[in-house]
Amino acid sequence: MTPHRPKTAAERRERVFAILKWLDKAYPDANCALHHRSPWELLVATILSAQCTDKRVNEVTPGLFEKYPTPTDFAAVKPEVLAQDIRSTGFFNNKAKSVVGAAQRIIAEFGGQVPKTMEALLTVPGAARKTANVVLGTAYGIATGVVVDTHVSRLSNRLDLTKQSDPVKIEQDLIKILPQERWILFSHQLIFHGRALCIARKPRCAECGLDSVCYAKDKTS
Ligand code: SF4
Repeated sequence: MTPHRPKTAAERRERVFAILKWLDKAYPDANCALHHRSPWELLVATILSAQCTDKRVNEVTPGLFEKYPTPTDFAAVKPEVLAQDIRSTGFFNNKAKSVVGAAQRIIAEFGGQVPKTMEALLTVPGAARKTANVVLGTAYGIATGVVVDTHVSRLSNRLDLTKQSDPVKIEQDLIKILPQERWILFSHQLIFHGRALCIARKPRCAECGLDSVCYAKDKTS
């Protein structure tokens, strides 16, 4: 049976809360999969995670942070040298330039500390809005926005929380319908769900507790 589509604002709100309630039950401890010990390490790991799995990044970062323990060490290395250290994460030349540029800016402008505002973070090389949201949310616990990665983008569309494909527009839609205290956890939970059941090619809807509120076109039976 196709679930009932909410018609009124109250019904839509109720549906969003039903989704949040189930996500809390299914993924109470969802968090960032990138290993890190500081905001700086998370920033580097997030830059490296573009077009790369978190697992691969987690294999690279322990050795990387042993070799370059502080932003000062990263700021002093030549990007072409760093590129070889991060080769296995792909797009290594661009990522190396971003990481070295980020370290230099953070030292020159922010006293060696990763800044705590979206505005300041967006001036750091390699930190676009998604990366800034990851660092602010996970490292500092500051909910400035919602992290929209490929899982959040796909699932937000399947769950009819947005009709947009552009991550910035998806984020704007999510910000409007989610309580601010849920912005950080919601992304982590959708990413967990996107990996566990609501996978890209063939979602495992029979096992999904959101089945009764989901009317995605590509639902499986
Ligand atoms: S019912 Fe299927 S498509 Fe909908 S959220 Fe669950 S797994 Fe994804």
